[in-house]
Amino acid sequence: MRYCLRCCYPENTRPGIIFDDSGICSGCRTFEQRQKEDIDWQAREHEFREIMESYKKQARKNDSPYDCIIPVSGGKDSHYQAHIITQVYKMKPLFVTYNHSYNTKIGMRNLSNLVEKFGCDLLRYTTNPKTARKLSRFMLEKVGDMTWHYHAGIMTFPIQTAVRYKIPLIVWGEHGIGYLFGMHNLDDKVEFTKKHRQEHLMRGFEPEDILNDPENKDITKTDLAPFFYPSDDEINSLGMRGIYLANYYPWNQDENTKMLIERYGFETLQNRETTFNLYGKVEDFFQDTHNYLKYLKFGYGRCTDHTSVEIRHQRMSREEGINMIEKYEQLVRPSNLDTFLILQ
Ligand SMILES: [Zn+2]
Repeated sequence: MRYCLRCCYPENTRPGIIFDDSGICSGCRTFEQRQKEDIDWQAREHEFREIMESYKKQARKNDSPYDCIIPVSGGKDSHYQAHIITQVYKMKPLFVTYNHSYNTKIGMRNLSNLVEKFGCDLLRYTTNPKTARKLSRFMLEKVGDMTWHYHAGIMTFPIQTAVRYKIPLIVWGEHGIGYLFGMHNLDDKVEFTKKHRQEHLMRGFEPEDILNDPENKDITKTDLAPFFYPSDDEINSLGMRGIYLANYYPWNQDENTKMLIERYGFETLQNRETTFNLYGKVEDFFQDTHNYLKYLKFGYGRCTDHTSVEIRHQRMSREEGINMIEKYEQLVRPSNLDTFLILQ
């Protein structure tokens, strides 16, 4: 197994990450590009402002109560998106969230905090726990992913909402694995696509595929209601556009989170079994079990993602990163794995 010589990513376990001739991964190379001094962040902010102004105007013209949608989980990125959109650009967003039903208390508290501190409305789709368990089990057996419905929900329900309420602009945070693995050049200013959502976040499975799957015995169309993507006609006639804030702003999660804690009272975890990072995915009750499965499937876990980010930001040496990975990614049985198994 070959590992990136700069961060800790292994080669050939995930699609999307590639190594160059010097043994450096595409995630590190893209990060390096983001740090270059010749990136004109001011010009990007200016461009972002123009986009915001044009959608504000459009909302006024259409007499729409909302200027845009922000898909939220209540986590650090949601707080940061809300901060930029409401405080810097004075937009009136509608928050949209998908409740996957496996919540932590602190996550619920942060979601309430988001609504209260920014004074914005929230539309929340809640899948009932029985359906959540059915979906989780089916996709775990099918593709080894117990969180398919989390991703399908947060990547689709905001699009359904955009079409239903005729709100054409959706402001996402960062591009997720595109950022970690360096799948896109910063100059591409990549935007949201149905294809990326399906291939990378929904393991290639649309709800129609589950309905037609011969192994599916009891998952119904009603169970899958929040995951059906609107038709091309609906998307085109709305003129929907999904943009990523991280294309226009330097994206330093550590600094952002510190600001969100101080300014808005965002809360973080006290400890975690599978990684040292205490501010990511605090809302997911089964995050440790999910990370454990990730390790079994790909040979690396969430701690590798986190150390790679820390190393790129030069907040950790590669050696310290390897020590962290040895500490958190040894095959220990996460304590809430049994809770998950009992639920199923
Ligand atoms: Zn790397």
